[in-house]
Amino acid sequence: MDISKPNSESISLKRYGITHNDIKYQLSPSSLHRITLDKNMGTEASSGALAVNTGEFTGRSPDDRFIVKDSITSDKIWWGGINMPFEPSAFDKLYDKVIAYLNHKELYVRDCYACSDANYRMDIRVITEYPWSNQFVYNMFIRPTEEELKNFEPEWTVINAPGFRAIAEEDGTRQHNFAILNFSRKIALIGGTGYTGEIKKGIFSALNFILPVYKNTLPMHCSANVGKKGDTAIFFGLSGTGKTTLSTDATRKLIGDDEHGWNNENAVFNFEGGCYAKVIDLSQESEPEIYGAIKKGAILENVVMNDKGEVNFSDVSITQNTRVSYPLYHIENVQRPSIGHNPKNIFFLTADAFGVLPPISKLTPSQAAYHFISGYTAKVAGTEAGVVEPIPSFSACFGAPFMPLHPAKYAEMLSRKMTEAGVNVWLVNTGWTGGSYGVGTRMKLKYTRAMIHAVLNGDLGLYTYDAYHIHSVFGVAQPRQCPGVPTSVLSPRATWNNDEAYYKTAFKLTNAFRENFKKFESHASEEIRRGGPQRYAF
Ligand code: ATP
Ligand code: MN
Repeated sequence: MDISKPNSESISLKRYGITHNDIKYQLSPSSLHRITLDKNMGTEASSGALAVNTGEFTGRSPDDRFIVKDSITSDKIWWGGINMPFEPSAFDKLYDKVIAYLNHKELYVRDCYACSDANYRMDIRVITEYPWSNQFVYNMFIRPTEEELKNFEPEWTVINAPGFRAIAEEDGTRQHNFAILNFSRKIALIGGTGYTGEIKKGIFSALNFILPVYKNTLPMHCSANVGKKGDTAIFFGLSGTGKTTLSTDATRKLIGDDEHGWNNENAVFNFEGGCYAKVIDLSQESEPEIYGAIKKGAILENVVMNDKGEVNFSDVSITQNTRVSYPLYHIENVQRPSIGHNPKNIFFLTADAFGVLPPISKLTPSQAAYHFISGYTAKVAGTEAGVVEPIPSFSACFGAPFMPLHPAKYAEMLSRKMTEAGVNVWLVNTGWTGGSYGVGTRMKLKYTRAMIHAVLNGDLGLYTYDAYHIHSVFGVAQPRQCPGVPTSVLSPRATWNNDEAYYKTAFKLTNAFRENFKKFESHASEEIRRGGPQRYAF
């Protein structure tokens, strides 16, 4: 064994090819915070949180993500634009270059794990070039106890070298930055980018392969929480649709905000030990729990502060994707351990910038499968010359960039589990109402919360005849009433006050759905295809 421990400041990394001894092992978050300040790599906000800039990259770079194509992966991965192959020999060479680069640096090493259910636990060692990246790892992965650390044998290793720059022609990358998964060597190799989300989503992507292939468990890009009666709810959705916001709910215990597994023992378990929340326009009033979690220990990314260290959450001059990471224990109301029983309700969140989907609707099993494979949300285009046009964005399983297998594989597992568990599935539009982006407004968070609470409290007339209207275009069941929400808000058409414009826009969206679904048609049963919209423009 070449590892001395525990809490030794100088473990050896010889097995990785790192020969020097300037290694800071398992430092406390407050030490990492202090070192970051001492090195002028960050500042302290008035809340006590550490604030850093992640550098050139303030978001993930999906075009620079690769998977090593080898005997484990070659015939299982859904290769293509999302999962791009990387040669094993090229990986080995690049690995050696990154190690040679790191061999001149002081390094931060953390042992931690993913998956709160012991049967699925993945022990991970993360080696980072920067102290704050290591503190991010402390926040986001599960923290082993002193006892667990004694016999800790890492299975996977993440190597994070933001200052390393690849040379595309020599190294086989697209450009200077990269995030590469190697399932044979069990390494996630990240270089040229300091964006911390690459570390988190690297391990997530590895689990999204390992769990379904070897452990018959469904990995999900979703948040989860649980009510007083032990009723679990999960929330799928693409970035910015509200997973973190809506799962952080004073009346329910948080299980996790982004990555979960659903196993065959009727449980949903969190992969992570922390949350990674968007902070754009954050306010204490509408999101008190997240606001309160921003204190010593939390790390703010790419926010702008005044000279008193007060954050201006509406300042997006660095990026729209301003973030904060914090350990789960920064939230008062959390489920421990982060495991819940089979969900009773599943929410598909979509930020429909066309403003045509109902704010909440109930899906049939066919519709649930169809919408899961489609993974719809909308992006808002630039506002050049005042022209604003929403762009539909489809991402299979509400997380295609992290899903190494064909979407049908995850969809089949989800359909089966939903049927077995008898869950209700709801499509929630957290996006626009009263018109498309530019004309309408974003759905009020308090209304979305009220709709979700109504579902969870059983107040949405589940079994009452005539409680729902079947939407003529999307075919989904739109409730006529919902406690805490003005009735007019429940019908998107009514909020538009212009039927012709409403239907024209709705057809634009259904056409986009149809176009996107073409690539899945050969894999989809008649049953699933029936779950799509009912009407299209011709
Ligand atoms: P990611 O996958 O990137 O972590 P996410 O799904 O967790 O994304 P959130 O971080 O919850 O997304 O972001 C939702 C954003 O939208 C928040 O800034 C929230 O304040 C805002 N928002 C505005 N209106 C609503 C609404 N009606 N429902 C949910 N979120 C809303
Ligand atoms: Mn989130």
